[in-house]
Amino acid sequence: MRTTPAVVAVLLMAVASPIAHPSTGSGWPEPAEGQNAPAPAVTVLKPARVFDGETMHEGWAVRVKGERIDAVGPEASVAAAGAKVIDLPGTTLTPGLVEGHSHILLHAYSEASWESQVSKEGLALRVARATNHLRATLQAGFTTVRDLGTEGAQYADVELRDAVRQGIIPGPRILASTKAIVATGSYQPKFVPEWNVPQGAEEADGVDSLMRVVRDQIGKGADWIKLYGDYRWGPLPGSHPTFTLDEMKRAVETADSAGVPIAVHTSTVEGMRRATLANVATIEHGNDGTPEIFKLMVEHHVAWCPTLTAGAGPWPPADPNSPANQRKRAVFKAGLDAGVTIINGSDVGTFPHGDNARELEAMVAYGMTPAAAVKSATSTAARVLRMDTQIGQVRAGLFADLVAFDGDPTKDIAALRRVKFVMKNGTVYKQ
Ligand SMILES: [Zn+2]
Repeated sequence: MRTTPAVVAVLLMAVASPIAHPSTGSGWPEPAEGQNAPAPAVTVLKPARVFDGETMHEGWAVRVKGERIDAVGPEASVAAAGAKVIDLPGTTLTPGLVEGHSHILLHAYSEASWESQVSKEGLALRVARATNHLRATLQAGFTTVRDLGTEGAQYADVELRDAVRQGIIPGPRILASTKAIVATGSYQPKFVPEWNVPQGAEEADGVDSLMRVVRDQIGKGADWIKLYGDYRWGPLPGSHPTFTLDEMKRAVETADSAGVPIAVHTSTVEGMRRATLANVATIEHGNDGTPEIFKLMVEHHVAWCPTLTAGAGPWPPADPNSPANQRKRAVFKAGLDAGVTIINGSDVGTFPHGDNARELEAMVAYGMTPAAAVKSATSTAARVLRMDTQIGQVRAGLFADLVAFDGDPTKDIAALRRVKFVMKNGTVYKQ
């Protein structure tokens, strides 16, 4: 159930029992402070134009009431009487951007390797860093992140999500996936073989074990489940599949009962094939995707999160025409040509938080139009995340997650770097 702050206040007054339910579900609004909730603030935003998530509208204005968008349309049609007016000349107002693949509990690999972070940095240290990461993400105009694995930091994403929701720290709304799930033996860190150390994700094998772990992670607060469908393991070079098709199917079926979608890390053709046939929601990376596998994904309505800029390397790359980058470009083009649904997601955390826009720059550099790239981070992302009745468009009734950029990012993607204004849930975080 969605609960507004006013309703919360009424409930708190009406309920005689001193026992309050902790907020663990997906009720989005962050509760307001104060006993006597004042009338919701009304703000009218006047940018040069509004990109509503689908199309551009010159001369439109947006009225925000409380945490929701109240009205959108030509400036003359949006009443501003009694409202606080914020002029945003020269800017394009868009829905808050979505980062589809983050790791808020990692920091850049150029600062410390994954193995060093997971095995030498304690939980409190990592959470302290994550609060900075969340602030930087929000300031960069990203108002929602799907965080795909804490990489050894237990369930800290769930409680960071709740800390943001409760207004304790600033940050984007978080979709948490807790520990992520790997097949035994396929993940890290590894020490001498006789030492069994906690892994960077939770191990599960066989349909019974997978069902139990999926259910346990959902019980611990996961909004999404992340599986590793392949990884670099075994005697041969490169990645190789892990979970069988049966295992993946059962995981999907189990999570689906709770309304929880599954994201699968997979780069190999066989891993992508199994994930697609299991009808998972998204495939992460997909580095070896072929026209055939992308066609299969379209048929099964599986979306793709390409993470073109994942890794520690700088963006733009020193050599855009290196064999590796030519290959990335070719695979991305195959996905575009097949018409697979693409959600923006960068694997940020492997590089500095707040630099998320580089993934959108990469998608455009590799052949997507700027308008399609912005959609992949707004309206398309919201659909893939099953949140299109909440976020992803500038439309009355949706949460007031609104960002203004100097210039027009649907024509010049570099404008995403010129963030002039950030609002989330009707609260201004940058102006
Ligand atoms: Zn990742």
